[in-house]
Amino acid sequence: MMTRAEAIDLFHSPDLIGIGMAADAVRRKLHPEGIVSYIIDRNINYTNVCTEYCSFCAFYRPLGHSESYLHPKEVIFAKIAETIALGGTGILMQGGLHPELKIEWYEDLLRSIKQRFDIWCHCFSAPEITNIAKVSGLSLYDTLSRLKDAGLDSLPGGGAEVLDDEVRQRISRLKCTTQEWIDVHRTCHKVGLRSTATMMFGTGETIEQRMNHFDVVRKIQEDTGGFTAFIPWAFQREYTSLGRSVKEEATAVEYLKMLALSRLYFENIENIQSSWVTPGLKTCQLGLRFGGNDVGSVMIEENVVSAAGTHHQATEEELRRLIRDAGFIPKQRDSLYRTYYLN
Ligand code: SF4
Repeated sequence: MMTRAEAIDLFHSPDLIGIGMAADAVRRKLHPEGIVSYIIDRNINYTNVCTEYCSFCAFYRPLGHSESYLHPKEVIFAKIAETIALGGTGILMQGGLHPELKIEWYEDLLRSIKQRFDIWCHCFSAPEITNIAKVSGLSLYDTLSRLKDAGLDSLPGGGAEVLDDEVRQRISRLKCTTQEWIDVHRTCHKVGLRSTATMMFGTGETIEQRMNHFDVVRKIQEDTGGFTAFIPWAFQREYTSLGRSVKEEATAVEYLKMLALSRLYFENIENIQSSWVTPGLKTCQLGLRFGGNDVGSVMIEENVVSAAGTHHQATEEELRRLIRDAGFIPKQRDSLYRTYYLN
């Protein structure tokens, strides 16, 4: 297993192609069939009301703000119906941290979705779970068990940013701590749900701080095996308050290095996602030779990253062509990264 010191040395190495080849060798070992997967799903941001004021976020509005919203159920149902009509298999539903919504609101929403639709509910990042638990006066275990009973299928890794409290203090002072993120994901795995792990880098943190994040994720995975995938992505600065102090976004080379390091460091996590939403389609394609075996979603709707200035678009056919041209077989997957029953 790669050590922390080896990872830091590799990050500083100028041998970009060598790093890519090492990551590609691990990818080949774990995915010898040469399949690269994608999912058709929809991001549904049920509310933009949030109390956390993260400096990298251009999406949130305070409660009572003229641009704040909380989608009624009918709006969410209509979005799900559209998703299914377009061949979608899941929803990624996340929102701000609403100070007034108790667990009953979330249970009712999940139940009414499951009554109407056959759709996978990959919903609520760790800070939202912590918030629901706090607002409802419940333990994390009870919160996650009740949400699971109501229809929650898996948890997204959002809200991790960089799991290092010095970084979090600087960019998301009010949002959940490293320990809270850990507690949510460990509890999620304990109640029998799987989750993804993400990292948003490029806000001025050091490689050592990024490695702290890697160590947290690798340790959880060693203990629980509950992560389906690791998804690193780079901070988008436009329209965010943090963007005024972080003058330079991560370059494609830095993104590819982090992607390759992810593949090399997390041999115990099956899937690494090469993203196109922030790095763009061409970098995403190169990422398939830097350890990535998945390109994420043909996203039908995305509000959070686009609020911060990213507007890359991709159709299913574009993603399939991108995968084929890189020498792989494109396959649609579900939210647990299973490709066997889809085209
Ligand atoms: S990143 Fe999430 S928690 Fe932070 S302000 Fe935006 S919506 Fe709120």
